[in-house]
Amino acid sequence: MTHIVHRNPHVPLPVAASGSGCTIIDSHGRRYLDASGGAAVSCLGHGHPEVRAAISAQLDALEYAHTSFFTTEAAEALAETLAARSPAGLGHSYFVSSGSEAVETSLKMARQYHVDRGEPQRHRFVSRRQSYHGNTLAALSIGGNMARRALYQPLLMESHHVSPCFPFRYREAGESDERYATRLAAELDQTIVQLGADTVAAFVAETVVGATAGTVPPVPGYFRKIREVCDRHGVLLILDEVMSGVGRTGTFHAFEQEGIVPDIVTLAKGLGSGYQPIGAVLAHRKVVDVLHQGTGAFQHGHTYVGHPVACAAALAVQRIIQRDGLVERVATLGPRFEQMLRGALGDHPHVGDIRGRGLFWSVELVADRASNQPFAPSLKLNARIKAAAERVGLLCYPGAGTVDGAVGDHVLLAPPYIVTEAELETITDLLHQAIDTAVQEAHASR
Ligand code: PMP
Repeated sequence: MTHIVHRNPHVPLPVAASGSGCTIIDSHGRRYLDASGGAAVSCLGHGHPEVRAAISAQLDALEYAHTSFFTTEAAEALAETLAARSPAGLGHSYFVSSGSEAVETSLKMARQYHVDRGEPQRHRFVSRRQSYHGNTLAALSIGGNMARRALYQPLLMESHHVSPCFPFRYREAGESDERYATRLAAELDQTIVQLGADTVAAFVAETVVGATAGTVPPVPGYFRKIREVCDRHGVLLILDEVMSGVGRTGTFHAFEQEGIVPDIVTLAKGLGSGYQPIGAVLAHRKVVDVLHQGTGAFQHGHTYVGHPVACAAALAVQRIIQRDGLVERVATLGPRFEQMLRGALGDHPHVGDIRGRGLFWSVELVADRASNQPFAPSLKLNARIKAAAERVGLLCYPGAGTVDGAVGDHVLLAPPYIVTEAELETITDLLHQAIDTAVQEAHASR
């Protein structure tokens, strides 16, 4: 194998050959139940004939046109669809090819907004520890996954991190949601003031954390307080919904459950459901109006911005999601899935926390339930769970407990929105088996 994607080049990966619904089949005919949609990508499931047809139709008509010459019907219709599903004002889209590109684009947009408004000194970004915003250098700089940053530290731009909203690990004993949220908002406020409020461009956060700590929903009221702090200091609020957006948590945008409207939102995975690489930046009129008045246009661009085939695929995905009521389905299945997970794993001696929303759940493992002490990172428990799950035909997305030594190994579950209750039961059973096998192996290896 010469495709250099292997985490461990000495262990060959299975070759994915075909897929249908929630199942991927490898070249030996082995079937895997896709409980994480890859990395929370596949929301429609695999092999949807209508999306394939939409991609073919766009290819038959035109494969590509550069955005300095043309827009396309696919890009315009996709932008209109997103605007119709977003709160008033959040109606402008910019289409890129990945989540990282969407995040990079959002940072540059925030920077230009301030320059065009006459505040060129605003160049700083504040974000949170234990977050993930992508692997390109600016996205990595604002990200708070220390393990992913370490190798590239000398290349990263200035960054400022505040505490995440992560009650399982960091809420003080007896602290109410309200007091915890107030404490975190005060920390952001202080950080902005210390940096010099007039130098800060934006605060960036995942509405529901995904890749670094396992799904972590905020406590109620947290984002309302954060929104107030940002407004007080003229700092833009960028919400990264690359993983948590497009219905994954049971509302089209995860922030709808927080009672706020951000200035800029990034989307990617569920937007195209993996049928094409696509990401999006949704910007509020307040931002776009300034960009259009100032230098005249957003000074940014990539060759494949608004790629017609990617937009046509995402448009088909979004139309099917809407027509088939799949976001509503996620909202209904979410509590069922939670019940199943808590029923099977709630009393497990090595499960410290089960958390999530919609079809976006994580199980965090602990060595000891009394203290919630994580397993030693050297035991690589999450990798063992992934491998044990694959052996019983289950795909789940593991996370390492390497963040700062305080967060345990976890497994992230994000099945396609078309998953059935019977498949959710199977996912729960197989995960339980995989956790038991991995824990036994880890104990035996000591
Ligand atoms: N932001 C978030 C919240 C993500 O979860 C990810 C991907 N895991 C990214 C950005 C980066 O997206 P991509 O891998 O498509 O570049």
